[in-house]
Amino acid sequence: MSHSRIFLFLFISFNMFGNVPIAKTPIPSRKAILKLTALAADNLSESKFEQSLANSRLALHYAINGNDDCLIAESYNTIAANYEELSEVDKAIYYYKKGLVYANKTTNDTIKNALNNNLGNMYCFEKNDFDVGINYYKKALEYSTNIANAGRVYITNMNITWAYFYKGSFDKGEPYLDFINKHQKTDGDETTIVAANMLNGMFFTNKLKFDKAELFFKKAIELGKQDIDKSDLSYAYEEYAKLLMKKGDYKRAYENLALYNSITKTLRDSNKLKRANIVGVNLELDEYKRKVDTIENEKNLQFVSLQKSIVIVVLFIIAMIVVLLLLYSVYKNYSFKKKKNAELIIANEELLLAKEKAEEASYLKSQFVSTISHELRTPLYGVVGITNMLLDEHKELADSPHLNSLKFSARYLLSLVNDVLQINKIEENRIILESLTFNLSDEINLIKNSLSFIAKSHNNHINVIIDPTIPEYLIGDKLRFSQIIINMVSNALKFTNNGEVNINAELVKIENKAHFIEFNIQDNGVGIAAEDQEKIFDKFVQIGRKEIDYQGTGLGLSIVKRLLELFDSTISLKSKIGEGTTFTFTIAFDHDPIKTIELINKIQVDLTSSEIFTVLVVDDNKINQLITKKTIEKNNYKCTVVDSGMDALELLETEKFDIILMDINMPLMNGFETTKRIRQKGIITPVIALTAFDKEEITEEALSAGINDIIIKPFEPILLFKTINQLLYKTDETVIV
Ligand code: ADP
Repeated sequence: MSHSRIFLFLFISFNMFGNVPIAKTPIPSRKAILKLTALAADNLSESKFEQSLANSRLALHYAINGNDDCLIAESYNTIAANYEELSEVDKAIYYYKKGLVYANKTTNDTIKNALNNNLGNMYCFEKNDFDVGINYYKKALEYSTNIANAGRVYITNMNITWAYFYKGSFDKGEPYLDFINKHQKTDGDETTIVAANMLNGMFFTNKLKFDKAELFFKKAIELGKQDIDKSDLSYAYEEYAKLLMKKGDYKRAYENLALYNSITKTLRDSNKLKRANIVGVNLELDEYKRKVDTIENEKNLQFVSLQKSIVIVVLFIIAMIVVLLLLYSVYKNYSFKKKKNAELIIANEELLLAKEKAEEASYLKSQFVSTISHELRTPLYGVVGITNMLLDEHKELADSPHLNSLKFSARYLLSLVNDVLQINKIEENRIILESLTFNLSDEINLIKNSLSFIAKSHNNHINVIIDPTIPEYLIGDKLRFSQIIINMVSNALKFTNNGEVNINAELVKIENKAHFIEFNIQDNGVGIAAEDQEKIFDKFVQIGRKEIDYQGTGLGLSIVKRLLELFDSTISLKSKIGEGTTFTFTIAFDHDPIKTIELINKIQVDLTSSEIFTVLVVDDNKINQLITKKTIEKNNYKCTVVDSGMDALELLETEKFDIILMDINMPLMNGFETTKRIRQKGIITPVIALTAFDKEEITEEALSAGINDIIIKPFEPILLFKTINQLLYKTDETVIV
């Protein structure tokens, strides 16, 4: 059953463009595609299916490439219409539906209306699936209302009425029939009037109002006869025949049915003719469909590859951005580093300069300290020496408070200078501990004896308790050790009256050669308050010192603490006010029996020797000459004094001495130079440098000049004689200790 009358072409109006050749550009303009679409529609209406399909395929190709959903939908509509005309129902439905998919992507209600209407036709009148078909019609009706196209609204209503009546749902179809009856005059035309009358006839037949129905059928037949398209006339005959059958008028029913058959046959014949013209087309239909699908597939493939390339491009851009950011951060980093480096270089230069300045300042400070100490020591040597001489020669002055005060002040100054020098040296790390063999018990007892004067003046008693397991001879820096003990014991004596001072030495641990000896210096004196116990180790700290009573410089304990650090040791104390104080520390001394035996065998000093030695004193300072001479002669040695190195050299040409005491700091020729020349003459007489210089400062130069030992002024006479004795028993060796 053909329903070409209610099929909706879309762009009939494009006829006016005529047969415009299609531009061969890859994607022609939209206008050109529209022309092509209109041409395809024209071809179809002229039953030139082959041309129509070719043109619509080309239009589809362009529309897909141009991404024009509306034109794609229109091309599919024309293709589907061609299939419909060629009775390829399924293919027609397939392309109408494809068209609808694209149409729904657009806002174009005209194309949506057309496709829904055509699908309605297919389902209702080709597939006899009225429910599906009527749904399409109703959608078409919505769109035709939207576009306010009265003609379309009318045709769609008519199609719905027809579908409901064919289905037998006259009640549902009635409102739509009412609509077409109402609007036939305004919206209908000669192509719809036949069907409108026929539908009314059907309606009244169903209502059993045969007379009314007959009137409508007769009108339809009458109008249908004037129409060129006879298909509606044939339906009118058919439906009228049905009515006559119901009325029992079989004769007229037969006549009408015969008329229906004859028109249908004519139409079928003309259709046959049309089909005969497109036999070739029919054969190519499948191939054609395949090509149309390929167009879309190609597009899809293109789309997928486009998507892929978009992803690649996006990834590339992201990668580029990351690389650029990285480069930027590397650059930033580099310039930051460069800037920082430049700053660091400047800071380094400044630091270097500051370091050099600090070193220079420190050097100047130590130079200053050592020069000042040296300069102070020489006159102090004089003051202390002369005071002693005065007291020796004028026993009646022994009780003179002035003289005692002078002696006291001179000694104070001397110890201050020595302490400052010492602390300066420790702080500059200039002190390196020496390894000498010594007898611990002897050393401590020597200290005890030398401090007996202070002990007596405070009415104290010193007890020495030495652990018998301590080896007789130990190896270590006995001078620094003595210094520590002297400081501790003299403090204990100073701050104790009528009491006891105990010096305890106990072996606590042996590790290989190292013998760990714990020392306790204990007194029952004034004690130290808990809050002062930390402070006392700081420089120049003195607690409760009376102005009139000289007790020290306030440097003693800080020297002790620093010296103990050199021994890898620390000091601790326990004290209670009024009860006394105990200082404790442990020193590891080495014990090496083989080395010790060697030394014992070599050194046998006999200070009680009654031998008379001849001593040459070389010193430019008259006071020093006097003091040294007196000291030497007191021990019954013979003393000759010369003022300069030159005089010494001259004298040595003719005279021989047992020992030479050489001042270092002399004008014209100093002590080093003089000794060098003495040695050049082949004289091997031991030379002892008597100097106010610090020992460490001159040791190296002294040794290279040929000096055998150094004694720092002012010196204890006993130290001088001990050294003289040592040298005279071992003239073949240089023993600088
Ligand atoms: P100095 O003895 O020259 O004053 P030190 O550094 O040796 O300086 O001692 C600091 C202070 O510690 C002393 O002034 C004294 O008050 C206190 N002190 C040190 N040893 C003792 C002690 N055995 N008993 C009481 N007080 C002490």
